[in-house]
Amino acid sequence: MRLVRILIACCASLLICALPAAAQKAQKAHKATAQETAAAPRITLSLDATEAPRKIFHARLTIPASPGTLTLYYPKWIPGEHGPTGPIDDLTGLTFTANGQTLKWRRDLLDGWTFHVEIPGGVSNVEAALDFVSPAGGGRGMFSGAASATDKMTVVSWNTMLLYPAGWVSDELTYEASLRLPTGWKYGTALPVASQNGDEIKFQPVSLTTLVDSPVIAGEYFRIVPLSENPLQEIDIAADSAAALEAPEDVLDHYKNLTGQALKLFGAQHFRDYHFLYSLSDHVAHFGLEHHESNDSRSAERSLVDSQQRLLAAGLLSHEYVHSWNGKYRRPAGLATPDYQKPMQDDLLWVYEGLTSYLGDVLSARSGIRTAEQFRDTLARTAARLDHTPGRTWRNLQDTADAVPAMQGGPQQWESWRRTVDYYAEDVLNWLWVDMIIRQQTHGAKSIDDFCHLFHGGESGPPQVKTYTFDDVVNTLNQVVPYDWRVFWTERLTNHGPGAPLAGIEASGWKLVYDEKRSELQRTAEGYEGADAAYSIGLLFNKDGIIADTIEDMPAAKAGIGPGMKLIAVNGKKFTGDSLRAALKEGKSSSAPIELLVENSDYYHTYKLDYHSGERYPHLVRDESKSDVLSEIIKAK
Ligand SMILES: [Zn+2]
Repeated sequence: MRLVRILIACCASLLICALPAAAQKAQKAHKATAQETAAAPRITLSLDATEAPRKIFHARLTIPASPGTLTLYYPKWIPGEHGPTGPIDDLTGLTFTANGQTLKWRRDLLDGWTFHVEIPGGVSNVEAALDFVSPAGGGRGMFSGAASATDKMTVVSWNTMLLYPAGWVSDELTYEASLRLPTGWKYGTALPVASQNGDEIKFQPVSLTTLVDSPVIAGEYFRIVPLSENPLQEIDIAADSAAALEAPEDVLDHYKNLTGQALKLFGAQHFRDYHFLYSLSDHVAHFGLEHHESNDSRSAERSLVDSQQRLLAAGLLSHEYVHSWNGKYRRPAGLATPDYQKPMQDDLLWVYEGLTSYLGDVLSARSGIRTAEQFRDTLARTAARLDHTPGRTWRNLQDTADAVPAMQGGPQQWESWRRTVDYYAEDVLNWLWVDMIIRQQTHGAKSIDDFCHLFHGGESGPPQVKTYTFDDVVNTLNQVVPYDWRVFWTERLTNHGPGAPLAGIEASGWKLVYDEKRSELQRTAEGYEGADAAYSIGLLFNKDGIIADTIEDMPAAKAGIGPGMKLIAVNGKKFTGDSLRAALKEGKSSSAPIELLVENSDYYHTYKLDYHSGERYPHLVRDESKSDVLSEIIKAK
């Protein structure tokens, strides 16, 4: 998964996926119960998405049942979202009928995602009807439960539109799904299709695991970009306009390179086909969500055709693609849950997301999606943010992963003091450090690529899940090169700073510096945020001068400014990015303080900042005393 703000923020239907260990245990337990002789239920699901532009979806399910109480679940813990994010408050219109009778139901008092339905005698099937009302507009919902439909396109995430019976693991339940789309819409998915009749698609029967892992993208403006033939890999793009689909050929060529570079990195593929499902819309939530044979990635409408938007979204698809290996094929044991009700444990997200972030960034450069300079600028911004995270003094990196089920959706306000999901960005720095240690210890003979071959490679073939623990990571690293990896990672995960871990960057022949030059990436990001004075006076902005965050112990915070206030004027002149930059520059040759007029809950105050160090933006510059290994790391293989 990837939040686009961080920037920066399986579909093995006919195949038998290897059951995660937890699932195997649950399966054994289940088989020892009274249902020992019962056949696993086969459920039909008809989804009517013809009202997608109204953002309401109508589902009808036929579920085998017997007299007594039937317990049904609405998926709560969503794979790749790492938490209990199933959008239960958008489940509406729930009714159950059998033999023409409406059945009574009641929600569980201890778990709001669970329903108990009273089944009368003589009933063998229950008809369930439900509507999913997809959030309209920004802000509401998390990830696949967030805004997912526009006038011209939608993404169907099956977990939001179904129920499943208690007593079975998700691998055991079979779903026969069909989907009706608005007239003329085209679609893409990794879910195998059985037949199509006009706007109705019937899919092959698959396990619930596979169904939930195989979303469908659909829209009026739709384009398929072939990437490779064997195995078939393609980008299925739905956009809010025809113009948004007209990506330059060289841009698409970079994604062809991505598939080749990934195969070289990992040495094997664990999917039959692979589909990048790419939504281009300013009206859906922006994030990426990984699946075994596809990914659901969503960014601004002009992310392929506008060079600035392209730069901001540059790391998204490579990150989600890496997850097919790191996250889906290799999965932390605590995340390989048997169904969608059992809580997940997120302690290994520093591998699941952290290593994916590093490898996704490396592959974005190896494939040409990012230039070497853009890669370095991205790394510099990452390092600078983490180097200005006072929250590390009270909260270690491990806790940013452990806490995810409870608090992954924290606001940007006070982010530098709360700490955010730093197991993404900080572990880019840590895994680069690992890469450098391997290279140094082996005198350049080995690298992180060797780890990936061992950990993620093996035989190519259909999706399967191989779980791992902390020990497995340490042991595989030791197989690459003996080193005290346990101590290394324990220190990385539990230390309290003060600064960001920059040893990997420094060993690779580069240094993090701050100067007055804004990189292309910096300018582009500021174009959307208004201004960035994070590393000068400690101010980050949303649009319109709203202060997104202040960094503790930096000049703005010390002067009394806090998040949520609004910057109105700088040295008496209306606030714009230009007026703020001009004031910072003038302050260098003046002893006068910088004066900020700030609105706070209808009151205005002028704050004086005794600051004279000018603009400060992060860059990586060469350290000529060392060889340039970083450039070697990102060179196409
Ligand atoms: Zn991710």
